[in-house]
This record gives sequence, C-alpha cells and structure tokens, in this order.
Amino acid sequence: MYIYNTMTRKKELFVPQREGQVSMYACGPTVYNFFHIGNARPFIVFDTLRRYYEYRGYQVTFVQNFTDIDDKMIRRANEEGITVKELGDRFIQEYYKDADALGVKRATVNPRATEHIDDIIRLVQTLVDKGYAYPAPNGDVYYSVHSWPGYGKLSGQNIEDLENGARVDPSEQKRDPMDFALWKGQKPGEPAWPSPWGMGRPGWHIECSAMSMAILGTSFDIHAGGQDLIFPHHENEIAQSEAATGLPFARYWMHNGFINVDNQKMSKSLNNFFTVRDIAKEYDLDVVRLFMLSVQYRNPINFSRALIQQAAVALQRLRTALDRLQEAPVSETAAEDEQAFLDGLSGYKTRFNEAMDDDLNTADALGVLFDFARAANTFVSEPRTKAAIEQTKAAYGELLEVLGLMPRKKEEFPQEVLDLLEQRQAARKNKDYARADEIREQLKGLGYAIEDSRQGAKLKKL
Ligand SMILES: [Zn+2]
Repeated sequence: MYIYNTMTRKKELFVPQREGQVSMYACGPTVYNFFHIGNARPFIVFDTLRRYYEYRGYQVTFVQNFTDIDDKMIRRANEEGITVKELGDRFIQEYYKDADALGVKRATVNPRATEHIDDIIRLVQTLVDKGYAYPAPNGDVYYSVHSWPGYGKLSGQNIEDLENGARVDPSEQKRDPMDFALWKGQKPGEPAWPSPWGMGRPGWHIECSAMSMAILGTSFDIHAGGQDLIFPHHENEIAQSEAATGLPFARYWMHNGFINVDNQKMSKSLNNFFTVRDIAKEYDLDVVRLFMLSVQYRNPINFSRALIQQAAVALQRLRTALDRLQEAPVSETAAEDEQAFLDGLSGYKTRFNEAMDDDLNTADALGVLFDFARAANTFVSEPRTKAAIEQTKAAYGELLEVLGLMPRKKEEFPQEVLDLLEQRQAARKNKDYARADEIREQLKGLGYAIEDSRQGAKLKKL
C-alpha cells in the first residue's frame, strides 16, 4: 500500500516496523461536548484504514485517545457544576454512541490523559533532565523549541518565521515566544496532580506523546489526525518524543483534509456547526459514513444537504444489491453464463484493493462497489444456483464491510414497544394525530423516544 506521508511530502510504500503488524495512533476527541462532523471525518477515515489493514491480514493495534483534561473541559465542568471527571465520563459515553452509529469500530485502546499522568510526568522529567525543557517560577514547565534542531520538520516551517507571528501571553513565563507548556501549574479551582514542579496538570501536546509511546513503544508505524493538527500539535509531539528518546517517533504521518459546510468554513458565527447527534435525528449515520468516504481523505470535502441526500441514495443502491442477493431466486442448475460471472468476481476485489492501496482512495473503491452492485443485480435477475449466490454475496459483503457499510445489528427493542410503534405509524397514516401523540407519550412512559426522519420513525432509549 502507498500512503502519503506528510513528513516526506510524498506517497511512500508502507512497510510496517514489524512484519504482519500495524501500530497506529490517532488523536481523539476532547470530551467536553458532542462531536461535530468535522471531528467525524478522521474517526471514519482512520477506522477505514484500520479495517483495510485487518482485511489484508495485518494484526492492527489502533490507539485513539480521549483528551479529558484541558481548559475547555474545566470551563464546561464549571458551567455545569460537575467535576471534570464526571464531564469526561459523560461525553466518552456519548462519543461511543455516535461512533458506534457511524460504524467506527472500538479502538484497541482508548487511553484517557488523566489515566496516564505518571507516564506524562516521567516524560516531562526526561526532557528537563536532558535540557530540552525548563520549569518556570509559576510551576509551569516549558519545552524550549530552540534546544532541538529538528523543530519544524513536519510542517516545513522555520522557527524564526514562526517567532515573528507568535503572540505572547503575559501570564506565561516562557523564555521564548515559541516555547510551549508541557505542564501547567495549578490555578485556583482547577484539578491538579502532584509533580516534581508542584501541583499541576499536563499540557495537551505531551499527553499524546506519552500515551502513544506508553502503549505502542517509542517508534511506531502511523500517526494520524486532521490537517489542522500538523502545526503545532504534531510538530510538538515529534519534538517532545524524539528529543526524549533520541529515536524516530511515528514513521508515517497521515492527515485528512478539511470539511466545509455549504462551501464555507465551519464556524460558530456562521451557525453552520452540525454535531453528529443533530444529523442522526434526520439520517441513518451510515449515510454520513458513505458521504465521508466518497472523497479521498486528503481532499477537502463539502457538506451540504443536497450531497447528504445523494449519499443516502447511494447507500440505498449498495444495500438494495445486498437485499437482492439475499432474496435471489434459486435454480437447481447453473445457467450458461454463471461460471463466467463467478470468474469475474475476483476482478472487483483486485480493483478495490488497487484503489485502497493508492493512499486509501475510498472514492474509487466505492466506484468499484457500485459496478459490483450493478453487475450483481443483473446476475440475480434470473434464477442462479445457491452456491453461486452465496459466493457473490460473500465477495460483495466482504468489500462492503471493509468500508464499514454492511448493515449492523441495530438495538433490539421489546415486542410491546415495536407493536406500539407500528400502531403509531398506522395512526399517522390515517391522519389520527391525536392517537399518534398518545402513543408517543405511552412510549415515553416505557422509556423510549421516537424520532421521525426521512427514513421513517426510529426508536431510541431515553
Ligand atoms: Zn494528539
């Protein structure tokens, strides 16, 4: 497989550190809120990469962290009158709900920053001992960017240019405006942990260095994240990790492109900030997954109602082919053209793999699946042997599963609840809205909510 390595700025043949194994780390969410569609893109893209490696026979260790301590966490917890830990617990659960619905498999490990404070302190201490970092009188510890000659290599910037644009916050006690905090001394009302520099908490960049190396080792295969993380986050991770160990950190750096909404940047002021939870009210989230994969991950992607609607139609096409294979008419004897069709099945797999091997080109891979769907529809338009149908279904399903687009078992509901839902549908059909509302209330009493969407009514546990 060839992947575009941000570090070398070219597509490179991927050769894992250990044969048959892939170690990868992706920067995860700060768990202070529901995540939005911009966050969803890397979750879906790198989940697909992980699925692809598994399908190609690799044993994958995939780590994605939860940032559960930072300024945003502290502010939100204070607003809600709960502890930072409670806030983190809550939004980690909410993350899993949305990620599951997007078909994002659980990572091998989802470490929380607050569970790795010892690793973080040890790493900061090493950097201080080696002269790459210094404690300030206020209890902060800073990384000195001038002390490590490789600084800027990922983003291709030099320190002098960066310094010219740097803003200095007078509350920070840095020696140089580009230096960044590894450890932050405690301010009143903030959660804190004991350290050699007094009570405090980790900076954001150090947590990813500490957690990735603690779980994957000092050098590992792939580090991934959104393009916006290249500088300063990933640049700083490299500076911390490589200065501390003297060894190369991640060997391949992968970054996904931006997401726009109606051709504009997503921003609070434009009020075009959609959380995945919002979208789930209207669409099956597999539609969002297909939408994200319809563009190669490094290209920008534009989110709009029209494009999501197109993705919904596209998903329907892929699923219909699966349904037709499931219900295909069976024949005892093979028709004349059957063997030729079966011989051609491996061709779809080859083309699919070629697309994915070319820097995870999911757009082309989806194109192959649409061709496959069309051919399968035609194939089962007349009776086929059971063996031929099964073989086709297996080949098609395998590729659909790599993209995470196979239908998943939905939550199961008690029969009583399903019956009520059906009665409500009937009432609505008869325009008996009073009765429909009554049933809605009845369901609520049983602990279930109904969400009406374009695909029909969906039940949710309250
Ligand atoms: Zn990170």
